[in-house]
Amino acid sequence: MLTGMQIAVMGGDARQLEIIRRLTELDARLSLIGFEQLDHAFTGAVKEKLDEVDFSNIDALILPVPGTNLEGQVETIFSNEKVILTGDIVSKTPEHCTIYSGISNSYLDEISKEANRSLIQLFERDDVAIYNSIPTVEGTIMMAIQHTDFTIHGSNVTVLGLGRVGMSVARTFAALGAKVKVGARKSEHLARITEMGLTPFHLSELVNEVKDTDILINTATHLIVTAMVISKLPAHTLIIDLASKPGGTDFRYAEKRGIKALLAPGLPGIVAPKTAGQILANILAQLLQEDLGKRKGKVK
Ligand code: NAP
Repeated sequence: MLTGMQIAVMGGDARQLEIIRRLTELDARLSLIGFEQLDHAFTGAVKEKLDEVDFSNIDALILPVPGTNLEGQVETIFSNEKVILTGDIVSKTPEHCTIYSGISNSYLDEISKEANRSLIQLFERDDVAIYNSIPTVEGTIMMAIQHTDFTIHGSNVTVLGLGRVGMSVARTFAALGAKVKVGARKSEHLARITEMGLTPFHLSELVNEVKDTDILINTATHLIVTAMVISKLPAHTLIIDLASKPGGTDFRYAEKRGIKALLAPGLPGIVAPKTAGQILANILAQLLQEDLGKRKGKVK
């Protein structure tokens, strides 16, 4: 339980509602900032304006998945008000206050560091990334269906990268009957691809491996789908780039060659905001309970 814990939830999208629901069920008290247009009310959660919150009582600060932008602004789809997390606000929180965000940037790193508050990036955790790969794959399948006139079954799918997303993508497309080959650069990844019954190749051979690709799915966070690679693709190939912005594809050249290339960020929040929110809510509930337990231990 989170009884006695005071948590500020600053902005966010539908995923945040699952977090609010879960934390109020665990008996935390919540200040919701940037939610005044939300019709739903949660017992134990109060909608407040930024300047109404007493940050000196806040045990944890929960930001939306993107954190803040480089000016400190927090995304708020349930509000028209600008919500900006400043260094001043962070320094008003108690020393034990932890900031939780999906990802971070130089601004958020800097204000947390200056105030000496710990910042936890949930998306850096393997468990979150693996759970999140499930709605990501479902979104990828949706895009493949929407943007092709052939079935996934029987098509040649090339997946680049065998990380947390790449592995789920490769396995699921193979289960749908696609002929899947996977490009990686580590020998243990090539071994795992073989073990999965898929066709491995080293990424240094990418240019020579794509000539029969119907759907190319990139998960590597580096420009590897270069103009040279794109020049070898059949004209009908669909490129779905899952890597975070700016992706790993030369989109300019793909457009020039008339190859459809889609950068597809944030699929979990688009195709399954409820599940994506529950994934975050489960981990947050666990981390906050651990934090509270540790502090109670110290007080004794
Ligand atoms: P990950 O576990 O770190 O996997 C990344 C993969 O990319 C690894 O196989 C890695 O290979 C490879 N890679 C990285 N840099 C490379 C380079 N320079 N050359 C060749 N291969 C390289 O990451 P993940 O969790 O799978 O996530 C992959 C990307 O998808 C991230 O950008 C993430 O933000 C994004 N993502 C997008 C969505 C969406 O909705 N589109 C959802 C979730 C995640 P090595 O192990 O050899 O380095």
